[in-house]
Amino acid sequence: AKDRGGNVALLYDQEMYQRLAQRLVLESEIKDAIKFKQFSLSLQPQIELSTGRLAGFEALLRWQHPVRGTVTPDEFIGILENSPQMIELGYWVFQRSFQLAKELIGKGYPDIRISINLSAEQFLDPALPALLELWLDDLGLSAQHFELELTERTLVQNIDITLSAMRQLKAQGFYFSIDDFGTGYSSLSYLKQMPVDIIKIDKSFIFGMLENDADYQIIISTIAMVQKLELKVVAEGVENRAQLQLLKQHRCDFGQGYYFARPLNEAQLAEFLEHKVPN
Ligand code: C2E
Ligand code: CA
Ligand code: CA
Ligand code: CA
Repeated sequence: AKDRGGNVALLYDQEMYQRLAQRLVLESEIKDAIKFKQFSLSLQPQIELSTGRLAGFEALLRWQHPVRGTVTPDEFIGILENSPQMIELGYWVFQRSFQLAKELIGKGYPDIRISINLSAEQFLDPALPALLELWLDDLGLSAQHFELELTERTLVQNIDITLSAMRQLKAQGFYFSIDDFGTGYSSLSYLKQMPVDIIKIDKSFIFGMLENDADYQIIISTIAMVQKLELKVVAEGVENRAQLQLLKQHRCDFGQGYYFARPLNEAQLAEFLEHKVPN
């Protein structure tokens, strides 16, 4: 048993080492990646279910790496967590989202809203609110065009600092949503104390809703609860018509998923907008 334990520890050390090495490489690459414009945002439409209207988009990060090709956010966001590079990349995401909103407003979508994903450490950055104000002013934009997505996991870390940052950003006009709702282990009490506007039901529940009664019950009780709290609810990962019909029937406010559209790059977005989606 002692031998096995030793091997397991060795394996673990190697894994840790590999992760660390990977992280160091990534960290040094991020600066260049921003400089050489290897990052982009894809926009995934969010549709108001009662009307079919385009309500907004979620901004999803893409990295076109010169050697590795397209690197998805799940491959690098986790590794960058708690590093200064994550803060810097977060700044880039905000600035790019603001530009995209400005362009969309100019194209005749005056009420468009863009949802932006935030990592926990971004809420601990004391410079964030003032920087966002500055960048919005530069473009003549209102914060009401933006929704900040955070997860239950983010909410329970450094709760006091996160809450005061949220209050400050809320006072500036930003909306807040809880992403991946139902997958964290936090209590629901944060819904009372936090300035949350929108709940996004995690796609894992939507994937299962037609076959698995537990998924279905969780979805309909979440929708009912959200309505009683006078918040809005988004279903993510809507992939087919049957899911959509059921969600509409239960008065889910918004839907996002491959059924409507995949995350769209710049060219795909232009094409999507040509089809004159009602706004
Ligand atoms: P998320 O915030 O939960 O984003 C939704 C993910 O589900 C996206 O994956 C999207 O492409 C995918 N998705 C949307 N509709 C469907 C569907 O109908 N079926 C399926 N199977 N998948 C669907 P993506 O773009 O790979 O992003 C993964 C995660 O990376 C995001 O999950 C988010 O947590 C993180 N992320 C993305 N962009 C950013 C960013 O700018 N900042 C931070 N901090 N995290 C980001
Ligand atoms: Ca999200
Ligand atoms: Ca999500
Ligand atoms: Ca996620």
